[in-house]
Parts: sequence; C-alpha cells; structure tokens
Amino acid sequence: MLSDYHMHCRPYSPDARDTMEAMAHGALKRGMTHICVTNHIENCTQSPEFPDQFPVFNDWAALWRDFSAVRDKYAGRLDVRLGAEAGAPHYLPEEGRRIYARPELDFVIGSVHNLRRARDFYYLNYPEDFDNFRPAVEQYLDEYIELAGSGLCDVLGHIGYMQKYMARQGKGFDMMLFEDRLRTLFKTCAERGVGVEINTAALSDALGDFLPQPSVARLYRACGGEIVTVGSDSHRAQDAGSGIREGFALLKECGFRYVCLYKEHKPEFVKI
Ligand SMILES: [Zn+2]
Ligand SMILES: [Zn+2]
Repeated sequence: MLSDYHMHCRPYSPDARDTMEAMAHGALKRGMTHICVTNHIENCTQSPEFPDQFPVFNDWAALWRDFSAVRDKYAGRLDVRLGAEAGAPHYLPEEGRRIYARPELDFVIGSVHNLRRARDFYYLNYPEDFDNFRPAVEQYLDEYIELAGSGLCDVLGHIGYMQKYMARQGKGFDMMLFEDRLRTLFKTCAERGVGVEINTAALSDALGDFLPQPSVARLYRACGGEIVTVGSDSHRAQDAGSGIREGFALLKECGFRYVCLYKEHKPEFVKI
C-alpha cells in the first residue's frame, strides 16, 4: 500500500504541466495504490497588491467530470480520490467553509503559502541574517495554529514551506528553534482531529529534505499526533508518487503505525 495524497494537474492548477489522467498513470507506474488529486484553491488569498497569485477557482463541474472519468478508468488498479489544497482558508473563513463543504471533495489540505497581505514565500528574497526573518516564521506558525483550529482543512500541508525556497538561496534554519509554537500547534491538531502532511517535493530540491523536517515530524508524534498523510506535491506525471516510499519509511522511523486516506473528510487509518 502506497498513497500519494498531494498532487496537481492542469488545467486546474496553473503551475501544473500534465493532465489528471497523466498524473494517475504516472502514480500507478511508480507503484502507488492510492492517490488524491489536490489542486490549488487560492480563493481565500486574493489581494489586488499581489496579482501574481493564482486566480479564483470555480470550475467545479469540469473538475468533477474530469475526476469521474479518471476514477472510473483506474478502478480496481488505483484508488483515485478528489481533494484540494486550499491556500490559507482561514484568511477568508466564509469562502473557506464553502470550499470545505463542496460535495466533490473528500479531503482538504490547508497550506499557508503567504502571510496576510504578503506575497507567496516562493517570491521572497531571504535576508542573510536569520534574526531579521524570525518574526515572519513566528507569524507563519501562528497562522498554522489558527488554521488547525479553524475546521477548514483535514491536514496541514508542508509545514516549513519557506525552507524550500530559502535553500535555493543557500539559506536555512532549524524549525525546532520554534519548538514552543510547534507544541502549541500539535496540541491544537490533536484537539481538533487535524493531521499533518509529510511533503516529499523538496527531497529532490536544494533542501533535500521532507517538509516538515524529520525532527518536527518526530515532535508531532511525541505530542500524540496520529493522523498523517504523505504527498509528493507533484506537478508533472514523472514526479507523481516521487518520494512516497521514503516518506513511509520516515513515518515508521518516527513511530507512526498508520497512514491516513480520506473519505468525506474522515481519516481512514491504514497500517503501514
Ligand atoms: Zn502548497
Ligand atoms: Zn501543492
């Protein structure tokens, strides 16, 4: 059993290269047994100051048609489910609730890609002196604490997202510097039944590591965390399922015994 619960496809994710069919095919070729397609929904992070944000998504009918065809084509070979990656849904809770309640979605990843009234971390130039960036990381983790308590997502996506882009600029930091905030975050997760995603996309990037970093995943487990998913965050068919085996190995090392699949926002615990 190998599940990849984070991937994007065109035309729904503007940064994805391949179709949903191609992503499913790629995942199957890599040995996946379960996938969930999670396209970007950045409806809650629109700001006139940052026109480079992905546009509002509303084409549910087309997405559902596309998904139904792929699900049926792969039935019996690959379990294909539909989810979404909602960008900071707690920034605009009313819209976040509308997204979470969409009947098409079994699963919603909540991801903070940008602080409020700020650009995506992807676009930032990071300071040489980490102390100048420390408040941004504190604010970032506070946003995840609020997101975890919001009821607007099932799991928290790629905690430490900016570490991927800092590494590209030869910079970095240890997220465990923020252990107090992480403990508050994981306590909130346990109280609200929210899970944590192990994102494998940066394994093959400059960072060369999981997000969250393994020490943070271990802390989540030590705080009683049980709900985990693993996701490649792939945008091309050739990357579908990439790093998932490594992600499962990490889960075992951290003491997790189950990985979660999702149906109607409810976790299904599968032994690993
Ligand atoms: Zn993301
Ligand atoms: Zn993603």
